[in-house]
Amino acid sequence: MTVSAVTAEWICTRCGTTNRKLVPSDAREIEDRCLHCGAEHEVRPGARPTRWEAELDD
Ligand SMILES: [Zn+2]
Repeated sequence: MTVSAVTAEWICTRCGTTNRKLVPSDAREIEDRCLHCGAEHEVRPGARPTRWEAELDD
């Protein structure tokens, strides 16, 4: 089974670090943890394909 994937690029709202995660191309919402500070975020596709919108997950 082949699932195409895209790179979701998101910016940590806590520390400003740019994070990247490979996700299925049909993903609408993912959860990811900042590589720098460890903050969990909910990440959703943004206006541009590779730049996703991140929201701190409390
Ligand atoms: Zn961070």
